[in-house]
Order: sequence, then C-alpha cells, then structure tokens
Amino acid sequence: MSAVNETLIRDVVAEVLGRLNGVAAAPKSNAAPTNGSSCGCGGKQVNVATGGSISSSGKYGVFSDANEACAAAHEGFLQLRKKGVEARAKVVEIVKTMAEANAKEWGRIELEETKIGRLDHKIAKLQLIKLVPGVEWLRPDARSGDHGITLEEYTPFGVVAGITPSTHSIPTLSGNVVNIIAAGNSVVFNPHPSAARCAALAVREYNKAIERETGIQNLITIIETPTLDSFKSICSHDAVRLLCVTGGPAVVKAAMQTGKRAICAGPGNPPVFVDDTCCPTRAAKAIIDGAAFDNNLLCIGEKEVFVLESVADKLMTRLAENGAVKLNSAQLERLTKAAFTFKEGQGGGCSHASVNKDFIGKDVAILAKAAGVDVPTNTQLLFAETDANHAFVQEEQMMPMIPIVRVKTVEEGIERSLQAEHNYKHTAIIHSHDVENITAMARALDTTLFVKNGASPAGLGLGGEGYLSFSIATPTGEGITNPKTFTRVRRCVMVDNLRIY
Ligand code: NAD
Repeated sequence: MSAVNETLIRDVVAEVLGRLNGVAAAPKSNAAPTNGSSCGCGGKQVNVATGGSISSSGKYGVFSDANEACAAAHEGFLQLRKKGVEARAKVVEIVKTMAEANAKEWGRIELEETKIGRLDHKIAKLQLIKLVPGVEWLRPDARSGDHGITLEEYTPFGVVAGITPSTHSIPTLSGNVVNIIAAGNSVVFNPHPSAARCAALAVREYNKAIERETGIQNLITIIETPTLDSFKSICSHDAVRLLCVTGGPAVVKAAMQTGKRAICAGPGNPPVFVDDTCCPTRAAKAIIDGAAFDNNLLCIGEKEVFVLESVADKLMTRLAENGAVKLNSAQLERLTKAAFTFKEGQGGGCSHASVNKDFIGKDVAILAKAAGVDVPTNTQLLFAETDANHAFVQEEQMMPMIPIVRVKTVEEGIERSLQAEHNYKHTAIIHSHDVENITAMARALDTTLFVKNGASPAGLGLGGEGYLSFSIATPTGEGITNPKTFTRVRRCVMVDNLRIY
C-alpha cells in the first residue's frame, strides 16, 4: 500500500472513530498511552495541574470550552516532555513544511474570512514560517572552573497561552507554535474572533500531522469561538504559565492585568525619516515595498514619512515613478473623511481621530475610490502631503496610503518621528548615509527595530540579516520572539568535579 493511501485510510478511520466517540482518534501504536482505556479513568483524564478532569469534546485540538482546551494542552505538554527534543524538532519540521505547502490555500481562506490584506502577501507570510528558528536555538551556557562545572539550561514553562491578531492569524499562530514548542511547551490559543475559523483549521491540520508522526495529542489547542470570557478563563487557568499576546493596546493592557507573566507584542506606528544624503530612488522603492506589504497590515510597516525639504520633491517623484500614486489635497480630504471618525475632544476643542475599520487593510482601489481618483490597477501605494498632526500620521492606520511631511532640519525630522511613534518603542526607519544622523535617530527613537536604508521587513530578516517572528515583543522588551523567549533558565551545579583538566 502506498504511503499516501495508508495516510488517507488512517485519517478516514480516525475521522469515523472521532464522530462515533466524539473524541480525537487514538495515536499510532508507538505513542505514549494518553486516553482512558489504558489508565482506567473511563475516558476522563485527571488534570494534573488543576485536579479537574479533561472532557473529550475537543477534536484535533479545537475546543469550545477554554478550561478543557487548557487542560488538554497540559496533557499535550506532558506527552511532549516524555518524547524529548526529537519530538519537538519533528513538530517544528511539520509546522514549517505544512505552512509552506498549504500557503496558497490557507492564505486564500484567511483572506476570505478576514477580508483584509493582499492574497500574494498572505501566501508569502506563510511561506516564510521556515525562517523562524527551532530547537537549534537553545544552546545551554556552561561555566567551568576550580570549583567544578555549572550548566544553565533553557527549559520549558508548560502551557503557554497565545492571543493572535486578525492581521496575520495563521502566520502568527504558526510562528508562535514553532517558537513555543521548540522550547518544549504546549500552547492554547484564543485567536481574534474575526480570524478564528482559519486559525482553527490550521490547528486541526497541524494536530492531525503531529498525532500521526509523534503520537502526541493536543499539543496545540484553540478555542473555536473565542470571546473575552474565554480569554479570561485561559489567563486564569492554573496550567497556563505564560502569555504571548500579539495585538493592539487593549489586549496588551488586559494581559498585563491578569497577574500572569505576559510577553506582549504590542502596537506600533513606525515613522520613516529621509534626509538629503540618501539615495531617493532606493528610499522610495523601500517605502513602497514596506508600506504596501499586505496593504500595510504589518505592525512594522512604514506608516508615515518625514522628509527634509531639500529632498522632498525628489522623493515624491521617485515614489510616483515606482508604483505609487499621489493624492491632491481635495482627494486626501475625501479619503480622510471616509477613513477616520472624528470625535470632539474633551474641553480643549481638539478632535480625536479613530480609524474606520472598513478601510483597514483594504486594497488601493477601494481607498482610491473613496478619494475620488482613478488609479492604474497595478498601483501599490497611495501617498499625499500632509502636516505632522494629520490623522494619517498620528493613527496606526494600516492602509496602503502613506502621508509625507516636509521638515526643515534633521533635528525636526527626528523629533517629529519620536512624537509620531507614541513611545510604543516598536519600529523606526531611516534613509540616510550620514552616520551621525543615523546614530542620533537610533538613540532618540529607542525602538525595538531600527532599519537603515531598507524596507521595514528587513528588520525581520526579509531583505536584511536576522530571523523571523510575527510577534515582536515591544512593551515587555523581549524583542523579536524566538524559542529562548519561551523558556525558564535553570542552573545545574556540580561542585569540585567533572572539570576535566
Ligand atoms: P486587536 O488588538 O484588535 O486584537 C488582537 C487580539 O487581542 C485578538 O485576539 C483580540 O480578540 C484580542 N483582544 C483585543 N482586545 C482584548 C481585550 N480587551 N481583552 C482580551 N483580548 C482582547 O488587534 P488586531 O486588529 O487583530 O491586530 C492589529 C494590532 O496588533 C495592531 O495594533 C498591530 O500593531 C498589533 N500587532 C503587533 C504585532 C507585534 O509583533 N508587535 C504583530 C501583529 C500585530
């Protein structure tokens, strides 16, 4: 029988058994015993962490109940612990291979569900999961001296909770899975409600393959219909030791109030500063590449440009020559009215803008229509001259439209960049060949990512050196998350012996 047929038949049998019993299919014979038949608990496993019992309602990791999802993930962690680093490496390989192999289908499904972003870039983001580091990242640190040897090891926490955004649901989930499981943990996800179906689909498929290849069940679990209540239940579950939150200000605040340790990949509003020493063509191309990527949904994506007056016209000409279209002031005004809602400020008379969700991550054609302008179908990005207080500058707008603000001096450019970044300490970009300007901006902005003379994705190893993650921990300071981020450092000391010379 061919391997394909064997796999197919096993899946069909598992599916039928699952429907009959309402449980996930048994792992293959070399698996650790994990269900009721072998321990005499009658199908109910005792939850070590909470003393409760695990219901078997979840199928291939997809649960309706948050407590059950956490308890099952805890069981998954215990199974992984038994199977060791080899099983972790296998899971990492499965996730990377499947994300790439399914990129076209899953990218399409995610776009159909969320209706934000671009299909080509949704696919690209899944093809890139292979750039997330794996188990090889965890090298122990050793000391050797007159008093023996000491080893510091990077060890797992147990169950990690992952909260994922609507902007890149399957990519963030997949990158988190690689990082978290490479470190030896299991994971329970509360995805964004408007991107939960595609996330559950990926979890189901990953678990099927993980069970088939390693015998481990429920290493990844997810809430099928996530809510704020399921978030609270997950965060308060005893088995959950660590949170990994990727999203905007509200979820970062909520995570920090749970009392659990939280790794927070928070919001950004990345400014770009362009001075008169740079190559304007290179700067324009990089701005287009970064700001147009997935219709500017990336948290690292270029959101506003400050440019020295002496080079501003040249930069805008180069933008127009390389696929961007400039809006005039009337068109900008029409688009601004459509894309933002303005509420009166309290007392001071200043109105506060909030982004109209109908425009987040939408195609250039939709923005152009709202602006009342016809643009060529291959237009990558819109741009317009604005002042520094404009809503497109101040808000994290996540649209393929970038405001350009003229500044008179380098100092003004850096100061305005700092103000527009709102102290998120996320990402900033400079186009300059003057090392003093570059250094001054790096010091002033104090961001987690600082990209010089390239597009923002270079900060994640795409066109620059480095590794990838879609969760960049900004307010909590862990930076680009990697397997080490999800470990506890434990020290093992041998006194006076085992040093070999
Ligand atoms: P969002 O904040 O609306 O949602 C993110 C997640 O948090 C979702 O799962 C959502 O259900 C949950 N959530 C939101 N408010 C919550 C609350 N009060 N309590 C509990 N859970 C809550 O974000 P989004 O629109 O999906 O994604 C875009 C935002 O995420 C942007 O601000 C972007 O900068 C940020 N982001 C940051 C990174 C990073 O690596 N730093 C990566 C991607 C996105």
